[in-house]
Amino acid sequence: MREEFMLVVKKFGGSSVANKDRIFNVAQRCIEDYKAGNDVVVVLSAMGDTTDDLIGMAESINPNAKKRELDMLLTTGEQVSVSLMAMAMQALDVPAVSLNAFQVMMHSTSRYGNARFKRVDTERILHELDSRKIVIVTGFQGVNKYDDITTLGRGGSDTTAVALAAVLHADKCEIYTDVDGVYTADPRIVKNARKLEVVTYDEMLELASLGAKVLHNRSVEMAKKYNVELVVRSSLNRSEGTVVKEASHMEKMLVTGVAADKNTARISVIGVQDKPGIAFNIFDTLAKNNINVDIILQSVGREGTKDISFTVADNDLENAIKVLEANKDRLTIQQITWEEEVAKLSIVGAGMMSNPGVAAKMFESLYNSRININMISTSEIRITVLVDEKDIEQAMIAVHDGFAVND
Ligand code: ADP
Ligand code: ASP
Ligand code: MG
Repeated sequence: MREEFMLVVKKFGGSSVANKDRIFNVAQRCIEDYKAGNDVVVVLSAMGDTTDDLIGMAESINPNAKKRELDMLLTTGEQVSVSLMAMAMQALDVPAVSLNAFQVMMHSTSRYGNARFKRVDTERILHELDSRKIVIVTGFQGVNKYDDITTLGRGGSDTTAVALAAVLHADKCEIYTDVDGVYTADPRIVKNARKLEVVTYDEMLELASLGAKVLHNRSVEMAKKYNVELVVRSSLNRSEGTVVKEASHMEKMLVTGVAADKNTARISVIGVQDKPGIAFNIFDTLAKNNINVDIILQSVGREGTKDISFTVADNDLENAIKVLEANKDRLTIQQITWEEEVAKLSIVGAGMMSNPGVAAKMFESLYNSRININMISTSEIRITVLVDEKDIEQAMIAVHDGFAVND
């Protein structure tokens, strides 16, 4: 590589490449970097709502489509964007080449629909950069040991960008999206949310995992692991954006942000025997069926029995109930109840570790809005409550206002 210049990875989300004008806008921004002498690797998502449309198409043909085939279908979206982008750059007389995960060799685990990167080859990309091309790579996809194409889960293009930045030792990794950075809450819901200048990996990981879809949570996990500093910024304006990096001397905010996640359902198993091993058996059975469990609440036992409630992702609900029903006797379950219309509301902040009263303040804000709390869960830098889904937006605004987050 030519030493005085930088290697930059730039990722653009679906809305940033949604139509011809936006594609040319992105092409221009990448060409600026290229003409400054830098090596430029671009990662793209599918155009606009393409991925949702493809999912709809699959459902209309076969609601139980195999995940392998779904991945084969969904990855076409990214292939459209990268090829059109290469054509746009070539139309502007700049050499560019589009590559998919197979051509780069982005090796992933075998799990369709939710694969993780294992190893990413650099030869092809470095070769193309050496011949002074802009390299445009499909986000969201990998290749598994069966030579099948996989996807990384919704929003996974961010993770492609970070993985490439890590293996290529990029000097910069920029995530361009349709908002100017990471805000104290989703700016589309909380109108007075404020843009953060900096956020730590740990806080961002919590926010992303708890529903702030501005970054794919695995991308943050990977950025932390390989120490890739990220900048989240807008593809439509030039404002500074938000830096995601390791904690330094920055002042610890009591509450850095508020996140909401509607993709949650609650299950309760009623009247299980109050003896050692029952919780183990229930959650082991769920885990063996690939069902991820989140908040868990166990009641105090009465007359030799107890109830356990927990949350799962909406799309795991049906399977979880089926698995529990099938094992009802062995797990000593008397009754199973569930509720799909619930949502998680979380506050995240490194400062809450050393400050008592944060939870009380959150509950007070919810009480003032007469919003009932169904379940509570906490970690060092996070408090999560489960509320009725119909209340989630009001809850988010109330809690955000309650902390006047980041003021
Ligand atoms: P892209 O297609 O560029 O990957 P996404 O739709 O995945 O974009 O993520 C950007 C969206 O994330 C924003 O439009 C915004 O509504 C939402 N969002 C949720 N929480 C936050 C937050 N805390 N800060 C900024 N955006 C957020
Ligand atoms: N196109 C994929 C999705 O919509 C991946 C991404 O946008 O990051 O989830
Ligand atoms: Mg995204």
